[in-house]
Amino acid sequence: MIPYIKPTEDSKTKFVPHQRNTFGMAPGPEWSCPFATTGPGGCWSDGKKKTCYVWKLAQFRKKMRENLENNFNLLSSCKGKRRIEILVHEFRRFQFENGTEGKFYRLHWSGDIFSPDYAEDLMKACGEVPEVTFWNFTRNFDQDVVEKIVKHKPENLVQYLSADAVNVGRALDVYKEHPDVFSMSYMGDSLEPFEKLWDEAGFGDKPIRQCPSNFEHSSVEYMCKKCKTCLKGICVFFKTRK
Ligand code: SF4
Repeated sequence: MIPYIKPTEDSKTKFVPHQRNTFGMAPGPEWSCPFATTGPGGCWSDGKKKTCYVWKLAQFRKKMRENLENNFNLLSSCKGKRRIEILVHEFRRFQFENGTEGKFYRLHWSGDIFSPDYAEDLMKACGEVPEVTFWNFTRNFDQDVVEKIVKHKPENLVQYLSADAVNVGRALDVYKEHPDVFSMSYMGDSLEPFEKLWDEAGFGDKPIRQCPSNFEHSSVEYMCKKCKTCLKGICVFFKTRK
């Protein structure tokens, strides 16, 4: 196992050419996504077949799979001071390589917060690099994880709850309790069902933006740089990828 996080250049989230401003971990319940959702509208499976687009890609991209497995194995094999060091090393690498363009970092383009102690270490590591703004999505709404995030989330991290048709009830409960800590996102085939729930939960005055990738059929390159919705913590809707 390589003792460093292996970062990824992601076309949509990068801000300048060849920038690696994210890392991923192997997806799925057996790896870094203990609360991946299953059933109609689920991110992992619709109950019959796999829906996770990363899992599909990784089936025939060996290097990608190794990269994601390396990062999960590395970050799940230690905790506390050592794990924070590894994460901060990666964030400093990003700053060093990018200079003044090293300001925005997307956590976990694949994978999730996999345990309460990882939640705590991740929050602390982001807090150690206040010059960078981080954004992240989680489907881990486990009470212990929520408590760690509420207690340790630094100002420079925008932490989204990632809802879908399966987990939206629990996501809204967490959001209602901590609207100043979390931001909300929803992934589905259409926005309407979520809009209705959002209104009923009493948040109708808060806007919902659609990710421009919902409409864009050509290049997604530099889309986050142009859009920045997720860097502001605005409620966002992602259309399910087919
Ligand atoms: S809504 Fe904007 S910032 Fe968020 S993922 Fe889509 S393009 Fe990026």
